[in-house]
Amino acid sequence: MENLLEIRGLCKEYSDFVLKDIDLTVRPGRIVGLIGENGAGKTTTLKAALNIIKPSAGQIRLMGGEPSDQQVRAEVAAVFEDSFFYEGFHLLQVEKVMAGLGGVWDREQFFRDCDRYRLPRKKTIKEMSRGMRIKLNLAVAMARHPKLLILDEATSGLDPVVRGELLNVFMEFIQDESHSVLISSHITDDLERGADEIAYIHGGRLLFQRDKDELLENMAVLRCSEEEMRRLPEGLIRGTVKSAFGSAALVEEPERVRSILPGAVIDRLTLSEMMQIYSGRNV
Ligand code: ATP
Repeated sequence: MENLLEIRGLCKEYSDFVLKDIDLTVRPGRIVGLIGENGAGKTTTLKAALNIIKPSAGQIRLMGGEPSDQQVRAEVAAVFEDSFFYEGFHLLQVEKVMAGLGGVWDREQFFRDCDRYRLPRKKTIKEMSRGMRIKLNLAVAMARHPKLLILDEATSGLDPVVRGELLNVFMEFIQDESHSVLISSHITDDLERGADEIAYIHGGRLLFQRDKDELLENMAVLRCSEEEMRRLPEGLIRGTVKSAFGSAALVEEPERVRSILPGAVIDRLTLSEMMQIYSGRNV
């Protein structure tokens, strides 16, 4: 089955920011987590994939076709932080608008999801909590029966119970192996639990896209003196950071590192610590 999204060499230039040579692939049946510091270029990448902004260079294939193609776009649903609906709308009015747009619209599924998310029918969007609004956006997105669901920071600010529910929804969604989810998030714990792959954008460049389990198994955090770190061969250290308590390094091949430095502390990698070390900030 073809890849749902393929981005090759994507560049976008703004006056004070450059997104450069981004390659990203979303294969069928995968949840891909997009991580990166504030302003790294995640939203810009997702907007380019959705044809909301025009890239300066690069190729984007969505469902094997052009992102500008209406038929292609009909198979993709995006959930952003904000609601696109008029704030005075109730659920029934949202449903009417969506039904009137044409294209695939599953009314029964929409109301089923709204009930499952316990969305109040009597409240307007303005009166809903942030979590309710995001669930509404998700119910709308899913009722269009997309193949690819793209979420930009949509789960930030939600409580852990709701985020857990949404992770379950995404995992259910990809079960049939033809659907995929591309989700940008600062909540790295969620991606550690739910994502199959991690793509990391740092300062406008893609550092890597890797299988999450492989990444967490083959990278670790080494805590030791700088003198000890110098004993490691080149290529094993991916980044270092100093703190009041000593130095920490992001290392590949933890078992090999352990054999060279048997006394050193080697901790399991977390995505959050990985980002802190890559960005050179104190842990
Ligand atoms: P965050 O985690 O804070 O949401 P992000 O990784 O999604 O960040 P982007 O929103 O892609 O980052 O922004 C990347 C850079 O591009 C930022 O410096 C931002 O100011 C800049 N940028 C985004 N949109 C525009 C625009 N329309 N005009 C000029 N600069 C822009």
